[in-house]
Amino acid sequence: MSRHVVFLGPPASGKGTQGRRLAEEDGLAYLSTGALLRSALRDDTELGKKARPFLDRGEFVPDEIMVPMVLEWTEAQKSGWLLDGFPRTVPQAEALDEALNGELEAIILHVPDEELRRRVACRLECENCHRVAREGEGEQCPKCGGKLSARADDASANFENRLLEYRRLVIPAITYYCDRGRARIVNGTGSPDDVYQRVRG
Ligand code: ADP
Repeated sequence: MSRHVVFLGPPASGKGTQGRRLAEEDGLAYLSTGALLRSALRDDTELGKKARPFLDRGEFVPDEIMVPMVLEWTEAQKSGWLLDGFPRTVPQAEALDEALNGELEAIILHVPDEELRRRVACRLECENCHRVAREGEGEQCPKCGGKLSARADDASANFENRLLEYRRLVIPAITYYCDRGRARIVNGTGSPDDVYQRVRG
C-alpha cells in the first residue's frame, strides 16, 4: 500500500527541510503548499492573485481554495506522497481523510516560540526551487544555482500573525490526528541532522 505522510508544525519549525529529505530518501512525491503559493504570487497567476491578500497579512488561504488544489495533486499521484504545510485546519484534515484510501501518518514538529523567532530572523530560501538554505551557503542555491533570499512573509509582524493562526487553526488539526492515534510528535530543536534522526524514528 502507498505511504502517505503529512507534516504539521508552527512556521519555521523545519517542515520543509525535514519533509523534503524524507520524501527524497523514501521516494515519495513531495508538495509544499507554501512554496506553491509563493511561486503563484511571483508568477502572478490566478491562484497568486487570489492568495496574495492572505499571504501579505500572514493569514491562511481559505480552505475553499486550498482543498481542491491539494486534492487534485494527491489524486494525480500514482504512489506514495508527502505533504508539507497541508492540512493546516480541521476541515482540511477531514477533506484529506475523505479523499484518501489508505493510511496516513502525521508527523508533528515541536519547537518553542523563541527558537522559531530566532530561526525566522535569518532564514533564506531559494527563489527558484524553494529549498531552505543552510547556514553559510552564501547567495546561491547549491542545488539549482538560484538566488537565496529572505521570504517577504518572514517580516516580524507577518510572522507573529502566522504564529497566532497556528494556535487558532493548526493546533486543532493536530488534536484531530492525536485523537485518532495517528500523530507522532517529534522534538524539532537541534541541528537538521539531529531532527532528521528523530523524524526517521
Ligand atoms: P512556514 O514555513 O512559515 O510554515 P509555509 O511555506 O508552509 O510557511 O506557508 C506559508 C504561508 O502559505 C502560510 O502562512 C499560509 O498563509 C499559506 N498556506 C500554506 N499552506 C496552507 C494551507 N494548507 N492552508 C492555508 N494556507 C496555507
